[in-house]
Amino acid sequence: MFGKGTKLYSVLRLKCPRCHEGAFFEGHPYKYSTMGKVKEYCPKCNLKYSIEPSFYYGSYYVVYGLGCALFISIWVLKLIFFPDLGPGKLLLAILISILTLSPLLYALSKIIWGNLFIKYDKNITKNNGVTSQNDTITKK
Ligand SMILES: [Zn+2]
Repeated sequence: MFGKGTKLYSVLRLKCPRCHEGAFFEGHPYKYSTMGKVKEYCPKCNLKYSIEPSFYYGSYYVVYGLGCALFISIWVLKLIFFPDLGPGKLLLAILISILTLSPLLYALSKIIWGNLFIKYDKNITKNNGVTSQNDTITKK
């Protein structure tokens, strides 16, 4: 379920959606200087990560969904473990979690968005980046 070849593998390990080997981001999601910065090409299969200009603007829809899922999770945890907690402390818990997790949510939204449009190709690294699929988005 989480093995190489699944979308979840690429998302959780922040790897290239096509080869699942090359790094997707310039640096760690919490490194301030490269926060959320996607590499131009995959270092392993030479896939151009940005399929079209402003491609990752669509990931804002994904980060909105992730933020809502985080909010609902915290609210459910509050209902189960702290039923007497007031709305002010709930809001504080949500704010703290959003502030601390926002770099990770931002990175996850971009790689999820990329995985929606780029398919895994198990033969891509054997052929040095040449494949019949996605040829137009591979660096020449
Ligand atoms: Zn790759």
